This record gives sequence, structure tokens and C-alpha cells, in this order.
Amino acid sequence: MRTEFDWIDDLRRRAGSPDAASGLRVGIGDDCAVAVPPPGEELLLTTDLLVEDVHFRLAGLDPFDLGWKSLAVSVSDVASCGGRAAHALVSAALRPEQSGAFADRLLEGLLACAARHGVTLAGGDTTGTPGPVIVNVALVGFAPARRAVLRSGARVGDAICVTGALGGSILGRHLRVEARQDSARSLVQGGVVHAMIDLSDGLSSDLGHILDASGVGAELFADRVPVHGDALRLAATSGRSPLDHALSDGEDFELCFTLPEERAAAVVASGLAGVPVSRIGRVLPPSAGYRMLPAECADPGTAVPVERRGHDHFRR
Ligand code: ADP
Ligand code: MG
Repeated sequence: MRTEFDWIDDLRRRAGSPDAASGLRVGIGDDCAVAVPPPGEELLLTTDLLVEDVHFRLAGLDPFDLGWKSLAVSVSDVASCGGRAAHALVSAALRPEQSGAFADRLLEGLLACAARHGVTLAGGDTTGTPGPVIVNVALVGFAPARRAVLRSGARVGDAICVTGALGGSILGRHLRVEARQDSARSLVQGGVVHAMIDLSDGLSSDLGHILDASGVGAELFADRVPVHGDALRLAATSGRSPLDHALSDGEDFELCFTLPEERAAAVVASGLAGVPVSRIGRVLPPSAGYRMLPAECADPGTAVPVERRGHDHFRR
């Protein structure tokens, strides 16, 4: 059977030596990785934990997808701050029977996702466990100093937009997460964006975080919310409406952002790095609360409060 050290040797070989352009001076193999921050940039630091039977089940799972996802969800966080994902630390707790083919597939998925998003594997930690499989990725990204896009920047009058289409990710998209880093970078490089978040818990709840952090209210237009085909398929058996799935299903990993209304039309018209963008509402003063109209021009009397029904890990 392969030892932890064999696995780390494999890891190191397959991750390759970091190239100079990556800014990683020392990668896997020493006590610490050593990274050189690009001049004029700030570090973005994020981490995500995936636990067997909480975030995924092993039955029927290709460990490639687990490896891919464990990095992609962190890339999505860096993207939503308008940054560029750079160096990842990967920590894994595996049972002895997972030290062979399982660990290899996991690594393949991680490296594929790293290559997709320009991330170098800088290090990590490996342990055996008698308990659930756990994979943790800590990711360092960079953004121009004082230019990270935060949840707290939304302004009254902004348009609210989302990338892609929402709902029903449980039918498969939740595993092969497409982090919208290219879209986010094209958005921040193209002009002003006030606030941004990635949709991990569900639109109603995640947009709610922008509103709370920014101290504003908002109005959504139900007919503008982009409903994914998976939400339609799921609604056929779930007893819930496709719109309800789009508003409250988690793990879309699309971007939700606010920007000046004058800029929104151009972003919707062009899309972002090949991903469609929808303008789904507008930011209002806090007194307006958080509400939804059937359509933009509908009678204000038809507004209903938006329920925040995203996922809560502490809820039983
Ligand atoms: P230490 O005892 O100093 O923590 P380890 O033996 O755990 O050292 O790790 C040796 C090297 O291998 C370190 O550079 C560490 O970052 C890297 N490493 C260990 N596990 C992983 C992993 N799962 N993914 C990436 N790098 C890893
Ligand atoms: Mg260690």
C-alpha cells in the first residue's frame, strides 16, 4: 500500500515545479511554500471545507469531481471579490482504502481545475482518518490594492445582475462547478462594479448578504430571473415552481453583482467571457425591504417579500 510520503511525492511530481510567472518561489516539498506577491496587489484569502455525508456522498461519486469541486468553490470566492486565484493549499483526510486509486483521481480533478483557472498547487496536509473523508482547500488570490469587490458596496439605484441560469444544480452541475473567474475578471476590468457575491447558498439568501452588508433594500423582477433547464426538470417532480428552485437552490456558483444602471445594459448585451448576464432587479433604499415584483412595470401593490431560503448548515 502507498504511504503518505509516496502520495506526497506523486503529488509533487504531478503538480510540477512552479514556473517563474506563477510567483511561487518554493512549492510542495518544504515546510512552507514561498510566494512573491505581485507589486501593487493585495492578497485575497479564502478556504472551503468539504465533508463526506455533509457536502457529498461517496456512493456513485467520481473522486475527480470531488477534487475539481474542492478547488472550484474557492476560485469562485476569489472571482467574486474581483481577484485572480493564484496558489492553493490542499488538505485531505482519507481512510486507508482511499490511499490508492481514490487519491489519484482526487488529485487529477484538483490539477485539472487548477490548470483551468491558472492556480498553482503550493502545498497542503495529508492525514488518515477513521471518520468521514474531508477535503479542504485554502486559496490565495490577488487583486489590485483597494480594488477588491466586496458585498458592502451596493448603492441605491444600482442594477442587480446575475450570470448564467439558476436552480436545479443538484442534477449534476453542483459537482462540475464552473467557477466564473473569467466572467468576473472581464466585469471588473471593463468598468465599475459596486458589489459582488458568488451564489453558493441560493440567490435569495446570497443577494440578501449584499443587501445586509450594504445597508440597502432591493426589488427583483420575477420574469427576469434566469431559470435553468435543470430547475424546470426538478420542478416536474418536486412540487415547487421552477422560479422557486432558481431563487433558493444552492450551488449555482454564478455571480450576482450590482453596478450603475447606465452600465448594466452594455454588460447584459455583451455577456461576460461568453456567459450570458441577466438584469434581475434594482437596489432600493433600505425602507423598501427585500421584495419581488412579477415584472418590472408591474403595479407596486403586487410586490411580495423575498424569503431567504438558502442552505444553513446549522439548521436541522
Ligand atoms: P509537515 O510535516 O512539515 O507538515 P508534510 O509531510 O505534511 O510536512 O508535507 C510535506 C510537503 O508536502 C509540504 O510541502 C506540504 O505542503 C506538502 N503536502 C502535504 N500534503 C499535501 C496535499 N494534500 N496537497 C498538496 N501538498 C501537500
Ligand atoms: Mg503535514
